[in-house]
Amino acid sequence: MALRINSFCVKDPKDPRTTRPHQLPIYATSSFEFESIEEGMEIFRHPEKGHLYARFANPTVDAVAKKIADLECHGLAIDDGFGIMTSSGMSAISTMLMSLCKKGDKILTQGNLYGGTTELIKKVFPNLGIEPVWVDLRNAGAVEEKLEKEKSISAIYFETPSNPALDCIDIETIAKLGRRKNIPTIVDNTFCTPVIQQPFKYDVDYVIHSTTKYLNGHGNGISGVIVGRGEEARRMVWSVMKLIGTNCNPFDAWLTNTGMKTLAIRMERHCTNALALAQFLEDHPMVASVRYLGLPSHENHTLAKKQMEGFGGMICFEVKGGYDAGLRFMNRNRIGSLAPTMGDVDTLILHPASMSHLNVDREVRLANGITDNLIRVSVGIEDIEDLKEDFDRALS
Ligand code: PLP
Repeated sequence: MALRINSFCVKDPKDPRTTRPHQLPIYATSSFEFESIEEGMEIFRHPEKGHLYARFANPTVDAVAKKIADLECHGLAIDDGFGIMTSSGMSAISTMLMSLCKKGDKILTQGNLYGGTTELIKKVFPNLGIEPVWVDLRNAGAVEEKLEKEKSISAIYFETPSNPALDCIDIETIAKLGRRKNIPTIVDNTFCTPVIQQPFKYDVDYVIHSTTKYLNGHGNGISGVIVGRGEEARRMVWSVMKLIGTNCNPFDAWLTNTGMKTLAIRMERHCTNALALAQFLEDHPMVASVRYLGLPSHENHTLAKKQMEGFGGMICFEVKGGYDAGLRFMNRNRIGSLAPTMGDVDTLILHPASMSHLNVDREVRLANGITDNLIRVSVGIEDIEDLKEDFDRALS
């Protein structure tokens, strides 16, 4: 049909593709066209048979989500893993918890989660009639007691290692306690990535990530993912994701895919650099203490060795002196960026007392080990000698 000029302009050109692109394309489309009304009806009836609307599913996002799920299940005898990418790590957590909890339910969790997660569970979920139950998840007896006493717990949510204190929780113990009571367990695996820690090895139900961090690795996108097992679980999480609209956009999923190509090699370097820097800081006269899971001085070193394949790229240390000594270090450090994120290729430094925990009461902060002079380092993949020299200069 010969179209007039306006009609001609609005039509999308035909896709001229002949051979398969070597790299995953970005499908920047909000919806998908059907060849016929019959095809449309079939896909509306069975959305798993085809794409229809990009909030429900998008080929770029689906491909990357599947790759993350395969990474979490890599080498394990699991063939029913699924991944659902979301718009951020926070939306992965909220979507996950909204999938599992209804009004009147409770979430069993630890006090030292990432600050955003704590706020979400403390301030937003109670408005939906879902309350937190706080417990030290390192204490199996205390967890058992809570599970016995509180009858409406419908999810056990934890983070290991925790942010920023780097405490480890025994995944196997918590997963077993959850199984015994038939309560799903969810692990935030952001700090480790599946290269270092695979919680499914210990039979947890779900793994979530802020893919904004190590999986992307380059600090140029915001996204998250939920990984689970089985078609029933997939449908449950997917329907909540599509209804609350926490879907990931294809560009950020694509950036995550590009980042993941070097994930294993980056993690290896993050780990070796972090260990070398932690050892250097432990011997430094201006450093009061160092927390790194790879140091035998860390109380969770043995547990980390058991459930992790490396000790990760995150370090915390205390500069000698108080709050001002912390600020001084931050301003004198040249190699680390003062950016409130982690897991990028370059070193990032954070002074929680003046940055991420500025609005947290000092007593609460101190009770969670976040002292005035504590510095968190997301150790990058730079040359280690440059890192050591600059940290030494900034401390002197
Ligand atoms: N989980 C952990 C451990 C985090 O550190 C963060 C953010 O820093 C999040 C979740 C939230 O991720 P996002 O910022 O992508 O929403």
